[in-house]
Amino acid sequence: MTDLFNPTSEHRALRELVRSFTEREVDPQAESSDHGERFNIELFRKLGDLGLLGVTVEERFGGSGLDSVAAVIAHEELASADPGFTLAYLAHSMLFANNLQVNGSDEQRAKYLPDACTGKKVCGMCMSEPGAGTDVLGLQTTAARKGDHYVLNGAKMWITNGAVSDTELGDTFLVYARIQGQPRNQLSMFIVEKGFPGFSLGQKIKGKLGMRASTTAELVFEDCEVPEENLVGAEGGATICMMRNLEIERVTLAAMSLGIARRSIEVMNRYASERTSFGKPLREFGQIQRYIAESYAEFMAGRAYTYYTAHELALDQPGQRLDSDGVKLFTSTMGKEIADRAIQVLGGYGYVAEYAVERLWRDSKLLEIGGGTLEAHQKNMCRELARVERLL
Ligand SMILES: Cc1cc2nc3c(=O)[nH]c(=O)nc-3n(C[C@H](O)[C@H](O)[C@H](O)COP(=O)(O)OP(=O)(O)OC[C@H]3O[C@@H](n4cnc5c(N)ncnc54)[C@H](O)[C@@H]3O)c2cc1C
Repeated sequence: MTDLFNPTSEHRALRELVRSFTEREVDPQAESSDHGERFNIELFRKLGDLGLLGVTVEERFGGSGLDSVAAVIAHEELASADPGFTLAYLAHSMLFANNLQVNGSDEQRAKYLPDACTGKKVCGMCMSEPGAGTDVLGLQTTAARKGDHYVLNGAKMWITNGAVSDTELGDTFLVYARIQGQPRNQLSMFIVEKGFPGFSLGQKIKGKLGMRASTTAELVFEDCEVPEENLVGAEGGATICMMRNLEIERVTLAAMSLGIARRSIEVMNRYASERTSFGKPLREFGQIQRYIAESYAEFMAGRAYTYYTAHELALDQPGQRLDSDGVKLFTSTMGKEIADRAIQVLGGYGYVAEYAVERLWRDSKLLEIGGGTLEAHQKNMCRELARVERLL
C-alpha cells in the first residue's frame, strides 16, 4: 500500500534529511530565537544548502523541483521544533519562490529565483495592509504607469521577512497593488527589491505573542519606482495568481500545525509515563488518557486530510479551494488545542520554556489568523459548498 505521508522513496529521504537537520540544528536554537525575537539567518541559509528554500522551484532555476507533498513534509518536520523559524521559511519558499515559479516569466525566474534558492536573498510576499486583511480586494496600494516603470504608493502590514534585523529590510518581495483606474477584483503583482527608490522599512513589529523567531514588519512605498519588467503577468491579472498561491500557503500552514501537534503529543506522552502522582504514572489516570488519546486521533485525522489535499494540489492549477481552506480550518485549532492539552498534562512544567509546549501553544495561535482567519475559511468553504450537491 502507498504510504500517504511518504509516497515515494524521494519523499521518505526528504523527510529523513529534514528530520535529522531539525533535531541537530533547528531544535537547539528554538528557545533562544523565540526569547530574543531573532530571525536566525545563518540557519535559514543552511536550508538553502539542503535544497529546501526552492523546494518546488524548477532545478534549472536553482530549486529542487519537488511537489506539494514534499513542501508539506518540509514544513511539518521543521515546525515540530520551531514554528517561528518555519514561518520565515514558508514566506520565502512558498509565498515568494513558489509564487514566482508558478506565475513569473522565465526572465523573472532566472533573475530572482537562484538567489532565493541559496538564501543569499531573503524574500516575502506583501498582500495585507494596515486597513485590509481578510478583505484583501479592499487593498489600497496603487500602481501607476510612468514611462518605462510603475510608481507604487501605499503601505503593507504584517509582512513576514519584511525585515532581517531591527533596522534592515528583507531583500525581495512580491507586492500586490491595484493599477489606478482598474476595478476592485483586478490586482497586479510586482517584484520589488530592497534599494528601489521610495521603498522602505516602516515599523518592525515587536512583542508578538508567538512566531517570534520570524520577523514581521510594515513596508512602505512612497513613489516607489519599479521597472516595467518587474510586473508579474498581465496588468490586473494577479488576483488569480494570489488565490492559487493561497492554496499551497494554506496547506503548508496546515503542515506546520501538524508539526506542533506531533511534538506536543510526544512531549505529553513521555511525561505521562515519567511523572507519578498518588503513587502511579499520570498515564494511568483516565482524564490524562483522554488528553493523549484524543490528541493522537485528531492529529492523525488532520494529518491524513492535509496529505490527501497536498496530493490533490497541483502547484500550477487552481482547484483545491475547498480543501485548502478545510485543512487549515481543522488543523490550526487542532494544533492549538493539542499544545494546550500538553501544557495541562505537564502542569506547572508545561507553563515554562523547558518542555517547549508553551512556545508551541503561543506559535499555534497565529495559524488561526495568518494566511486566512478561521472565519475566512468558514466563509470560503460555505461559498464553495454551495456549488456542490453530493459531496463525493
Ligand atoms: C505574524 C503574522 C505574519 C503575517 N505574515 C504575512 C505576510 O507575510 N504577508 C501578508 O500579506 N500578510 C501577512 N499576515 C497578515 C495576515 O494574513 C492577516 O493578519 C490576516 O489575513 C487577517 O487580516 P487582519 O489582521 O487585517 O484582520 P481582519 O481582516 O481585520 O479581521 C479581524 C477579524 O474580523 C473577522 N472578519 C473579517 N471579515 C470577516 C467576514 N467577512 N466575516 C466574518 N468575519 C470577518 C476576521 O476573521 C477576524 O476575526 C501576517 C499576520 C501575522 C499576525
